[in-house]
Amino acid sequence: MTEARPISAARIDVSAVAAAAWLTGTAFLALLVLYVVGLDQGATSILGSDTHIHEFVHDARHLLGYPCH
Ligand SMILES: [Zn+2]
Repeated sequence: MTEARPISAARIDVSAVAAAAWLTGTAFLALLVLYVVGLDQGATSILGSDTHIHEFVHDARHLLGYPCH
């Protein structure tokens, strides 16, 4: 039987300002992705007849409950 050794790990010191900045940035990027997923409606595409964005995010649209077809 082997002996258990104490594990030493480096402490991560995150200030409140840094944590707030990371949280704000992450929330902004998440909302931007959510906006892009709902942006292209397919039939009323803002990109004309190009449906690449709509097809690329099609399953995500259904998962999030956006109207599709
Ligand atoms: Zn669909």
